[in-house]
Amino acid sequence: MKCIKCNEELEADDNFCPTCGELTPHGYLSLKDNKLRYKENNIGLLFTLTSIIIISFIAMTLISGKDMFRPYIELQKEISSLKYGYKVSIINTNNKYTKVTLSTKAEAINLIKQDITKQSWKCKRNINVSIIEKEVSENYNIPSVSLCDVDEDVSSKIKEVITVTYQLFPNIKGYLTNITITNAPSNEDYIAYFNPTNTFINNNLDIKEYNKVNKTEILLNSYYFLNKDILSKGLKENWYPNNASYESLIAHELGHYITLVTLLKQNNIDNITLVTKDNINNYQKILNILKEGTYSKELVGEAIESYNKKYNTNISLEDFTKNISGYASQKIKESVNYDEVIAEAVHDYYLHRDSSSTSSLEIINILKERLQ
Ligand SMILES: [Zn+2]
Ligand SMILES: [Zn+2]
Repeated sequence: MKCIKCNEELEADDNFCPTCGELTPHGYLSLKDNKLRYKENNIGLLFTLTSIIIISFIAMTLISGKDMFRPYIELQKEISSLKYGYKVSIINTNNKYTKVTLSTKAEAINLIKQDITKQSWKCKRNINVSIIEKEVSENYNIPSVSLCDVDEDVSSKIKEVITVTYQLFPNIKGYLTNITITNAPSNEDYIAYFNPTNTFINNNLDIKEYNKVNKTEILLNSYYFLNKDILSKGLKENWYPNNASYESLIAHELGHYITLVTLLKQNNIDNITLVTKDNINNYQKILNILKEGTYSKELVGEAIESYNKKYNTNISLEDFTKNISGYASQKIKESVNYDEVIAEAVHDYYLHRDSSSTSSLEIINILKERLQ
């Protein structure tokens, strides 16, 4: 006779498979016999069985922790992917916490890490993806990197973009706190998105009573990065620099981040993660500059000026941005978005290095100068 679970050859009188522990037909029959024998004592048996079940449940929960609920989580993922018609992320990246007392940046960083790690048991286990998360996090000093349920090959491509961009701009470590898969408000909302300040701790409380914590994050839309059939369709053509891909858009988002880092360095601000009553004025100043877009506008202006000097010409803003990409030259309400011009220049530089467009290279020169 063979085991019904693992196909191991069984002795005729085995009650359980010696290899995997599965109940054998012989075991089943002898249990049934015992049950008959105990019939007079049914209440006692019921009590014993219930106790055994409760004790083993507690023991299993203690030993395997949340792993016990993993099958349930997998089922939940299946159900939502059926409901939406594509895979969605199980991680909630928008938790808010209030009335949390903390005083150091190290505590703030710990809260940022915990917010994601306490959910990460829900992610598909893939040791290679975990290694990628760990390496990106440690090499570039990004406290929380979460590629939950992203396939291994997509994760490697994401790592490649981050690695190369950090090599091209070595002095940008230390302000980015999160790179994470998330469910965007809609599929069309964004592919990847840079959020300079997501105040997720003590957001609406008085700074005199509670310090605040910001995430500075790059969000990756699960609609694309968890669904390979959608990724394989490719990007809108002739809109980004040549050879752009879904993954290379992360270089564009890092372009927004690099712009922020140069702004912070110019203002001698070494931290926007922990906001206290001592640094809130500087922090608010940065927020205002970001909101008004003056910093990016001036930077692009400077780039055009040095372009004109170098090539002894008088290029228009329109032609200067068209050299970079369609997206860089896009006008909304008749005005160029200077943040996007810089981000696209970084995107171009990631893809083409020294053979990037001459416009991009002028912007890159200024960024690098300011990162010194
Ligand atoms: Zn077996
Ligand atoms: Zn952008």
